[in-house]
Amino acid sequence: MVHAKGIRKSYGHLEVLKGVDMTVPAGTVACIIGPSGSGKSTFLRCINHLEEINGGLMLVDGDFVGYRLEGNRLYELTPSTICKRRAEIGMVFQQFNLFPHMTVLENLIEAPVRVKLEPVDQATFNAIELLKRVGLADKRDAYPRQLSGGQQQRVAIARALAMNPKVLLFDEPTSALDPELVGEVLEVMKGLAREGITMVVVTHEIGFAREVGDQLIFMDGGVVVEAGDPREMIANPQSPRTREFLARVR
Ligand code: ATP
Ligand code: MG
Repeated sequence: MVHAKGIRKSYGHLEVLKGVDMTVPAGTVACIIGPSGSGKSTFLRCINHLEEINGGLMLVDGDFVGYRLEGNRLYELTPSTICKRRAEIGMVFQQFNLFPHMTVLENLIEAPVRVKLEPVDQATFNAIELLKRVGLADKRDAYPRQLSGGQQQRVAIARALAMNPKVLLFDEPTSALDPELVGEVLEVMKGLAREGITMVVVTHEIGFAREVGDQLIFMDGGVVVEAGDPREMIANPQSPRTREFLARVR
């Protein structure tokens, strides 16, 4: 599970996150929506310590991310420990970010072999199972440039799953796709939700949030303005800012 309390983050004098609270129980899906610049990506990057937070507490599965607690003080972990912790948190980006010079299979086994020191045979076996799961078993020897955007994104999801993460973070995973390719990626994500994978998804796909989300979180100006059951919130937003935003994206 992800537990964020009072998360603050500034870039110089610009305070981007002004005390964000969020709890994503294990096996549930949280969808984050909000206007451009509201801090959604920054918050996501704080979950796996790609950004250092300036205040608050971030726990994933009960462990502080990037820190350890001694007495009542937090100390930053060593880079290698941070890497290990980060390996437990999968991330899928808008721009896929596959390794372009590696085949699909090589993309999938890279982190398990290098970071988790899995034997190549075992990593390959797992990778082929994952490729079947995202419907791309026949593409194992293709290079990313030979795949459509939707296929690349499904490979990126399989690559994140290859590390057997405790939580999967998605930052607008379908925003860079042609409209006709959005569905195949959302279908894969729905399958993961059904399997009980904990997910935090920044998205503009309100339909996905309504259907798959266990909670919907509306961020604006670096705070959570409103959070709750997606169906209830979409049908009956409490805050005027949420109402205005939903009216624009629907
Ligand atoms: P979008 O919907 O456009 O992706 P977002 O909600 O993800 O927006 P963020 O990317 O988190 O927003 O950015 C929040 C604010 O932080 C913006 O004002 C942005 O310019 C600023 N910001 C983000 N990253 C940095 C950085 N590395 N250095 C300085 N400012 C940054
Ligand atoms: Mg963003």
